[in-house]
Amino acid sequence: MFAKKTIKDINVQGKKALVRVDFNVPIKDGKISDDTRIQAALPTIRYLMDHGASVILMSHLGRPKGKVDPMFSLAPVAIHLGKLLGKTVAFADDCIGKSAVDAAAVLKPGEVLLLENTRFYDGDEKNDPEMAKKLANLADIFVNDAFGSAHRAHASTEGVAKFLPAVAGFLMEKEIQYLGEAIRAPGKPFVVILGGAKISDKIGVIRNLLGKADHILIGGAMANTFFKALNYDVADSLAEADAASTASEIIKEGGSKIVLPVDVVIADALDANAQSREMPIGDVPAGWRILDIGPKTVQLYGDWIKTAKTVVWNGPMGVFEFERFAKGTFGIAKAVADSSAVSIIGGGDSVAAIQQSGLTDRITHISTGGGASLEMLEGITLPGLAALQDK
Ligand code: ADP
Ligand code: MG
Repeated sequence: MFAKKTIKDINVQGKKALVRVDFNVPIKDGKISDDTRIQAALPTIRYLMDHGASVILMSHLGRPKGKVDPMFSLAPVAIHLGKLLGKTVAFADDCIGKSAVDAAAVLKPGEVLLLENTRFYDGDEKNDPEMAKKLANLADIFVNDAFGSAHRAHASTEGVAKFLPAVAGFLMEKEIQYLGEAIRAPGKPFVVILGGAKISDKIGVIRNLLGKADHILIGGAMANTFFKALNYDVADSLAEADAASTASEIIKEGGSKIVLPVDVVIADALDANAQSREMPIGDVPAGWRILDIGPKTVQLYGDWIKTAKTVVWNGPMGVFEFERFAKGTFGIAKAVADSSAVSIIGGGDSVAAIQQSGLTDRITHISTGGGASLEMLEGITLPGLAALQDK
């Protein structure tokens, strides 16, 4: 059950709705190279348009560091969104100044306006109440649909909610339902797959899930730190020396729940043309490094995944950016896609990997939020969500 009010719980007819979306999309030469996040906000935008609200959208884009920087303008997004909606989207070249106030004032029901990047002001990230108040003054209600930014208490996510009736959009609702439910009451067996670059980024996730998951399958560079903790020589592998003691603690606490690779792919350089080979887990020869999990591990992890009712996956199994070290990640992707479990994938690089694998349609939920999804998995309350009205 979703505990917060959504746009369906309030009357939006004739209202000016200020909607925080996550339009932080990759833009190259004025063209949007991946519009997943824009697509994900469409249900909320369309609902508001169809129900007679004037829709004022705001978002951050990149890190302009509190200054106006045309490199980080949202103008191309207004054009792209207009094409998706089949309707002109007005654009204001400021989010709180006169151009924003004027554009918001003339906006009619069913029309859409996009404000310029909220991070052109440093007040956004500082959660400046003055900025939040100015944003709130543009509208009658606040809708937060920016799940990807909900873990940050900024003026445009959390601050503004103090000055207007504040509810969730559909993307926010969907993300919280899938991630929240998986953590609160997962169908069992609950299998968690964790990989990626650094164990230190994800200690909170492991700790929170240790009590809830039935099996935690470890891969990626994160596994290297566990190998170190078990006194294997990992040679030139990426591993965090100072996290080895944490890894030892986790092995002790988790016992047989923690599953480590039984074989790995090693190479003599992080390079597409490096020499590489498979080896069972053990001391890595000097000058070599672990860059992927091996085929036996893919098989073993696949067997656990087959038994699961819920699968949560964060972090690639290897350096999937290079084809020859991508087999582990894509093999696990296939196993997750083939399983009948509720499957949830979160994390920027993990989502990129599943998109590359072409298996997105066979995953139950792919999160649009990297950091936010990790904090959900850590069991942290997201401030952008907490600020919304309870049902
Ligand atoms: P996510 O964004 O999904 O949370 P991370 O940012 O934690 O994932 O980690 C992704 C990165 O981890 C990828 O760029 C990948 O190349 C890297 N990685 C995975 N396995 C290894 C490894 N064995 N050695 C070095 N880097 C690795
Ligand atoms: Mg990442």
